[in-house]
Amino acid sequence: MCERRVWLIQRARPEVRDTRMVVVLREDASAEERQAVSAVLSDAGVAARAVRWAEHDLYIPEAALSSTLQQTLAALAAVERCVAVESPFVLASRELHPEKSLVRVGHAVFGGADPVLIAGPCSVENEAQINEAAEAAAASGAHVLRGGGFKPRTSPYSFQGRGLEGILLLEAAGARVGLPVVTEVMEPALAVVVAEHADMLQVGSRNMQNFPLLRAVGRTGRPVMLKRGFASTLDEWLLAAEYILAEGNAHVVLCERGIRGFDTHTRNVLDLACVPLLARLTHLPVIVDPSHATGHRDLVLPMGVAAIAAGADGLMVEMHPRPDEALSDAEQTIDAATLRALATQAGSVRAALLAAQSQSPEQPEPSLAKTRQPAARLG
Ligand code: PEP
Ligand code: MN
Repeated sequence: MCERRVWLIQRARPEVRDTRMVVVLREDASAEERQAVSAVLSDAGVAARAVRWAEHDLYIPEAALSSTLQQTLAALAAVERCVAVESPFVLASRELHPEKSLVRVGHAVFGGADPVLIAGPCSVENEAQINEAAEAAAASGAHVLRGGGFKPRTSPYSFQGRGLEGILLLEAAGARVGLPVVTEVMEPALAVVVAEHADMLQVGSRNMQNFPLLRAVGRTGRPVMLKRGFASTLDEWLLAAEYILAEGNAHVVLCERGIRGFDTHTRNVLDLACVPLLARLTHLPVIVDPSHATGHRDLVLPMGVAAIAAGADGLMVEMHPRPDEALSDAEQTIDAATLRALATQAGSVRAALLAAQSQSPEQPEPSLAKTRQPAARLG
């Protein structure tokens, strides 16, 4: 009896999700023509978000549009096209934007032919340490220097980072060796000031759904590395990216850093399946952080190489001139020699993969719907 009721509830779920119709305006539409679009939407009682994205003005309605309304909108002079998007995320979807996005940070290009390697200490500790780390990173094949000033530590009694002072030291160290820098911002009010001193802003795992922070980093226009929440689904992660994109900032890189599991041998569980999956769902570049994902320096090299084999657009690793002396995350921090080995092996794996792919016949891609599991499965 009970089982049958559950079965009926499951069957009642719509198989196909609500389709959202995105209204794309013509770039040369006049103010009056544009006004006509918002008038039609508001007369129909439809709330829609106006977004400027990828050199186009769009309206993204909050709800599905009736077919009559769609026809009325499509006939308006200002409307270039209406695009049906089935994914809950819109700007991040391949449906709206089929081509892979490239995100440039200094000379590094995320999503391009070569994997991008980000390396540096968990925390900026002092000037000598970050300068030494910067030299080692540049000499070992890194393209971007990392270092935390504002640290999200689980305990309030752990080293909290050197704050803005640390970020200024990171900026100077990057400039000395010719590497762009990425650092974490934790508070919306600090997004602008951190963006003045960093080439890329990091939103950490704990803040992935800090919506005011996502809006604030989006508004800076700086490239953003959005780490996956340690208990977040791919849809939640992509919807978090959507908050940044909806502010008109198209420069978002996703970073898989492991999700919480039950085994205590590793710090997190590295979800490498998300890498090829995200390549189908989104045009945004995806990188992997094997340091926080594993929590063990010995696992950083093999899992970093595995991430490149899975198709990651790059890696972020914690590297310190003397890993055992690191003030935070020492256990997962590699030395410069390991970083060099990782850079070499990641490059070889990418090259081997490209060569092999160019020789194998086209493989049919499974449809997006087939990659989703039902929300709840019996037995
Ligand atoms: C970090 O990169 O320093 C960090 C704190 O990572 P996460 O947010 O993934 O824990
Ligand atoms: Mn760390």
